[in-house]
Amino acid sequence: MRFEIITIFPEFFTSIFENGILRRALAEGLVSMGVHDLRAFTHDRHRTVDDRPFGGGEGMVLKPEPLAEALASLGIEPKAQRLASNAAQAGPPQVVLLSAQGRPFTQAMARELAATERVVLICGRYEGVDERVNELYCDMELSIGDYVLSGGELAAAVVVDATMRLLPGVLGNEASGDFESFGVADAEIADAGDGVPRSQHGAGGLLDYPHYTRPAEFGGLRVPETLLNGDHAGIRRWRREQQLRKTLANRPDLLEGAALSKEDRKLLEAIRGEAE
Ligand code: SAM
Repeated sequence: MRFEIITIFPEFFTSIFENGILRRALAEGLVSMGVHDLRAFTHDRHRTVDDRPFGGGEGMVLKPEPLAEALASLGIEPKAQRLASNAAQAGPPQVVLLSAQGRPFTQAMARELAATERVVLICGRYEGVDERVNELYCDMELSIGDYVLSGGELAAAVVVDATMRLLPGVLGNEASGDFESFGVADAEIADAGDGVPRSQHGAGGLLDYPHYTRPAEFGGLRVPETLLNGDHAGIRRWRREQQLRKTLANRPDLLEGAALSKEDRKLLEAIRGEAE
């Protein structure tokens, strides 16, 4: 998979992907990245990328011409042409505009992008990007949350990080992306082969369970006994209950769309009952 990032601050990305899993994925060629300086597509002495907004108002707006040229240099045609010429091909590139006005970027969206061969990320600055760039070229606008950043670079880094760790081979354990917060629905997870279905601890759209490591006692708190006794089925049940507890406490909205079994629903009822 390849990411292309268009930005006025290419240096922002020089160190951000030089650590951990992402560095290894890049080094091993599981993913590749092109960072493109928008100013390289200007033709005036000042390398101007922005201009005042029509209609007046605060701030500046990223001009459409340098962005269109940057996209053309990547072989990205306007959407209408692209869709027509790619109609017969699988996996046309996704052109994404990072924007506070975008659809929320979620784990499901990261999975969708991870199935794409090439994703182009346009980083806005100032008041944003001339809307015609969005209309003509972008397949979607993505927001990483309900707050306003000063530029799309941090958002692009978030999208790249969350997406590329879902690519085959990037995480040590192929399945670990399934078992984290917002993981796949239980039914999609294969049997572990040890007699206890993996589905008992698939995230199924819930938040992850709490994790502990040594020492077994810290700050007066002991690791839950269940995790110490080697009863794997018991551990899975405990973890599932913790997922339900955390999700109910921190993100009750996720319970609406989560893949819940009959047992989960019973547990939830009991947990809700405790609070009364
Ligand atoms: N005028 C815009 C608004 O009110 O929606 C805010 C522009 S913001 C200061 C500059 C750039 O930061 C945007 O063009 C976008 O690329 C990026 N940005 C800001 N917040 C974002 C968010 N929540 N998600 C993704 N990108 C964001």
